Amino acid sequence: MFQPKRPSGLALANRKVVRKISASASGLVLVATLAGSVTSAAAATFDATAHPINHADSLWVVVNKIRPLYPIKYSPVTVRPRFSLPSTNNPYGHELAKPAALAIVILAKAMKAAGAGDLILQSGYRSFGEQTYVHNRQVQRFGLKAGEALAARPGYSEHQTGLAADVAALGQGCSVQFCFGNTVAGTWLRENSWRYGFIVRYPKGQTPVTGYDYEPWHIRYVGTALSRQMHKDGVTVLEKFFGLPSAPGYRN
Ligand SMILES: [Zn+2]
Repeated sequence: MFQPKRPSGLALANRKVVRKISASASGLVLVATLAGSVTSAAAATFDATAHPINHADSLWVVVNKIRPLYPIKYSPVTVRPRFSLPSTNNPYGHELAKPAALAIVILAKAMKAAGAGDLILQSGYRSFGEQTYVHNRQVQRFGLKAGEALAARPGYSEHQTGLAADVAALGQGCSVQFCFGNTVAGTWLRENSWRYGFIVRYPKGQTPVTGYDYEPWHIRYVGTALSRQMHKDGVTVLEKFFGLPSAPGYRN
C-alpha cells in the first residue's frame, strides 16, 4: 500500500490546525484552534492527510511540471458521465474517472439551474498514449518550448488522472480560450464550482506556481472536503495549499 508523505508543517501551520478536545452527546464535536477559540467541528475538522497527494489514483493527487504521475503510465477506471443531455453535454463522448464523472453531472445541473448555461465537456480523460501523441504533434509543429506550452508531457498531464475536464458552455463562445473566464458560465464556474468539489486548477495570476497560463475552462475534481477548505482559506492552487514548491517548468 502506498504511504503518502504528510503535507509540510508549514502548510499545516498556514491553516487553522485544530485539536479535538471533547465530543458532546449530541454528536457535535467541539474543537479548539491554536488561537484558543472554540468552534464547531463542521467548520473545523478538515483532515489534511485524508488522501495522499503523491499517488495518481488519489483524489488529491498533485501533478505538475515537477511532479509527474506515479506510476507514470497510470490509467484510472473511467466512465462516461451520465448527463441529462448527453448529445449537448458530451458531444465527443469523453470519459472521466468515476468520482469526477458523478460530480460533473451534478455540477452541470447546478450550472444550468443557476442560469449559467449548458455545460459542454470538451476534454476529459487522456491516456498516457494519447498524451504522447498530442505532445509529439505539438512539439513537431511548434518546437519544444512553444509545443510544450500547449501540451503537457505524457505522465505530467492532469487529464491522465481522469479527474480533470475542459469545459465550455453552449452558445457562449470562447471555448478553451482565456475569454471563457468572462462568459456567464466561466464566471459561474470560478465562483461556484468549489461547492461541487471542483477547482479551476490554473487560475489567473498563478502561472509562476502552476506552470500553466490561465485556463478558466480547466476544472479539476478534488472532492468537496478539499474544495470547500481551499475556498474557506482563500487558497486557489493545490501547490500553495499543500505547501509544495512552485512548478514553473520541467526540470530537464
Ligand atoms: Zn485541460
